[in-house]
Amino acid sequence: MRFVLLILLCAPLTAGGLLLGRAEVKITPPDGMPMGGGFTIRLGKAAHDDLLCKALVFEQDGARAALVSCDVESLHRAWVVAARKRITAAGWIPGDRVMITATHSHSGPEMTPLVLEGAKGETLKISQAYHDALPTKIAQAVCEAAKSLTPVRVWFARGHEDSISFNRRYLMKDGSVRTNPGQMNPDIVRPAGPIDPELSLVYFDAPDGTPIATIVNFALHTTAWGGPGFSADFPGVLARRLAEAKSPAMTTLFLQGCSGNINQVDVGTREKQSGPAVSERIGTILAAGVLKLYRKMEAVPVPGASLRVRSKAVRLPALQYGPEQLAAARETISRARSGARDGPKFLDLVEAFKIVNVAEVHKNQPIETEVQAILFAGQLAIAGLPAEVFTELGMMVKGASPFPRTLVSELANDMLDYIPNLRAYPEGSYEPTTARCAPGCGEHLATEMTNLLIGAYRESLVR
Ligand SMILES: [Zn+2]
Repeated sequence: MRFVLLILLCAPLTAGGLLLGRAEVKITPPDGMPMGGGFTIRLGKAAHDDLLCKALVFEQDGARAALVSCDVESLHRAWVVAARKRITAAGWIPGDRVMITATHSHSGPEMTPLVLEGAKGETLKISQAYHDALPTKIAQAVCEAAKSLTPVRVWFARGHEDSISFNRRYLMKDGSVRTNPGQMNPDIVRPAGPIDPELSLVYFDAPDGTPIATIVNFALHTTAWGGPGFSADFPGVLARRLAEAKSPAMTTLFLQGCSGNINQVDVGTREKQSGPAVSERIGTILAAGVLKLYRKMEAVPVPGASLRVRSKAVRLPALQYGPEQLAAARETISRARSGARDGPKFLDLVEAFKIVNVAEVHKNQPIETEVQAILFAGQLAIAGLPAEVFTELGMMVKGASPFPRTLVSELANDMLDYIPNLRAYPEGSYEPTTARCAPGCGEHLATEMTNLLIGAYRESLVR
């Protein structure tokens, strides 16, 4: 009996309970940094609002996991690897248990190495210094979060929001499919695919009801702000609105859903579809949706020792390009960078970037990447897919997941440009032209993610 009592006295007060720590680190670009989201260098102007790297660290019975979201267009694998290395070295949590995502803000810093090849002088210096510092800042956010662990309860709700997102690929009267064909274009027949209207939230509060953190998952390209000043765009507005309504101390982490073919442009109106007012409108509508969902939340039971992280290396078949195609692509990119009047057509430039990525970066070899999930018992899954993924593929993962609650983030742990669904390849236009991996890679990726979730769910049943 005395022995049992001793064990009870020695057990941590939080045994079985879930702990959460959070931190935010500023990653606002300095003056002179190029703005991301394009194919050539364009310098950003002074920031309208701060860009942040936000980290949530979870702990249960000694096991830790972390979720990071940064207000940048994307995070290439090299930065994820570098950040994880620093996180592991700091000793708070193994780096491979950290999911590192980007909100996809197109009004953040330029993040594409191939675009930055075109930077010179001071611009190049500023860009390099920013990128060199980024893995350290991500690691700093995770380590600071790990120092602030506190007991939490977990809540979930799922809603529907279909007024702010649009499938940006359209079937045209001539039978073609075009991305962003223009507002009030009389040749539009109908959208070529669906939107994913699901708005999901995971909410964490202290046992006394104090708000701690909200994760919001929604699929919508972060292109509402449009520049020229740096901004976190609508995810920043969302966080500010929720802080006003719920608690200034609460952290809101936006998890970008699969929005490769989804943006905010309503082609059925002549009204301006980007700018500060649009960013405010979208962030506020999302915040209103979340505020409604706070009233419908269900408690998520997270029994002891049930926090898991599962990752799987995935090989995606790459396209193949020979030396002549590579030389022609390099020539196209040089012409675009020279700013010549007879510069390449947009889709030719997009194709050239793809060819260089496939032939030089991946050396025409299969693309090695990762799928990852953070799992709370058999109850809740946060699934991370690399790259900009078509919304149909995210919906496929959510639909096939055995977990009753599944969030899917794109741009997790890697950036490989677009991953379209099989159907989009023969349809063509912008996204399939950027795609580095062969037709079918999207379905393969979604299947790998689903298989990981099925395996993890089965594990949760035999605890
Ligand atoms: Zn994008």
